[in-house]
Amino acid sequence: MIYFDNAATTPICEEAKAEMLREVEIFGNPSSLHGLGLEAERYILSAAKGLATIIGASANELFFTSGATESNNIAIFGAVGSYRRGRIVTSAAEHPSVIEPFKALRDKGFEVVIIPPKENGEVDLAQLIGNINEETLLVSVMSVNNETGALCDIEGVSRAVKDKNKNTLFHTDSVQAFAKHEINVSRGKIDLLSASGHKIGAPKGIGLLYVRNGVRVKPLFFGGGQQNAIRPGTENTIGIGAFAAAAKCAHFNIQANLKTVGLINDFLRKTFEKDIFFTDKALVNSPKGASPYILNVSFPKIKPEILMRLLEEDGVYVSTGAACSSKRKSGNSQRRGLMKELEESSIRFSFSPRNTVEQAGVVVGCIKRALMKFNFREG
Ligand code: PMP
Repeated sequence: MIYFDNAATTPICEEAKAEMLREVEIFGNPSSLHGLGLEAERYILSAAKGLATIIGASANELFFTSGATESNNIAIFGAVGSYRRGRIVTSAAEHPSVIEPFKALRDKGFEVVIIPPKENGEVDLAQLIGNINEETLLVSVMSVNNETGALCDIEGVSRAVKDKNKNTLFHTDSVQAFAKHEINVSRGKIDLLSASGHKIGAPKGIGLLYVRNGVRVKPLFFGGGQQNAIRPGTENTIGIGAFAAAAKCAHFNIQANLKTVGLINDFLRKTFEKDIFFTDKALVNSPKGASPYILNVSFPKIKPEILMRLLEEDGVYVSTGAACSSKRKSGNSQRRGLMKELEESSIRFSFSPRNTVEQAGVVVGCIKRALMKFNFREG
């Protein structure tokens, strides 16, 4: 099996598995006042410290959630609920867990600006900044686009937003960047950041929201007051520990990992850019300078679903776009901003440091075979 769909989710890494086994023994409720509770509380604090270090934050600025969908919702509705003023701005290339809250707020009467992304999925900074006025409450821009890999200088964008209006809150959905690309919330003056464990080797169902000290976020849930009541409910101790272990490993190896996936990405990009296919040339949609973790490519004249299935017959797993939106066809083209004919034929390859260039070579062979089979079947 060759798994090139790591932007959808990743297998649980060895570090997270080992930590989960160790943690099974730490079963106390972190809110209990007895020793077992304190042990769990200390354990969570130590995990939070580790995770916070990765983005230059403090442990008390992190709140654990069920994943980035929840983090994004708390960040957006929570900020708007707390401050209740002004325009909110985002880009159409954002993940549905950002776009949909913006649309829901528009339905409630908020002034919402959704900026079309550039052709390659990158955020249009000039338009973004042009839309910030004195009243702008919140701007949300993703760090790495989950479909094209377009990489945003998120610290630079956040600082540019603050230069225009120092009171505007800045949120970034960092799901595809956390522990893969360096992001420092202090340096970037970032107020809110979302991340998810299952994209970096932790299990599904654990995420985090960073909230800068002093920024108010109105809770979406009400309950026992855990995590400063921003996200009440008994904490997912096992998930939190596994997330911290996976993130520590990913961050410790950040440069080596970038190099590994960079070699794989370069190999595929160069291969696809050469006219090696008997069919029309493959077209690379990911912009130059995109995150090496993602490569989005169009194979004209073949439906991506068909190519994906043919590759699966050879044990190769790729995606036809973002897994979370693949069942909502209509949303794709507007969000990604790619030309329609490319859009309808695009395949996303997404890598992990556990992949190799050799695997990429095998995948190229499989694609050639798949295209041949397709042409044969077609006539
Ligand atoms: N934002 C982005 C950019 C994503 O890629 C994803 C996952 N596809 C999410 C948010 C949602 O994350 P989760 O699965 O943890 O809810």
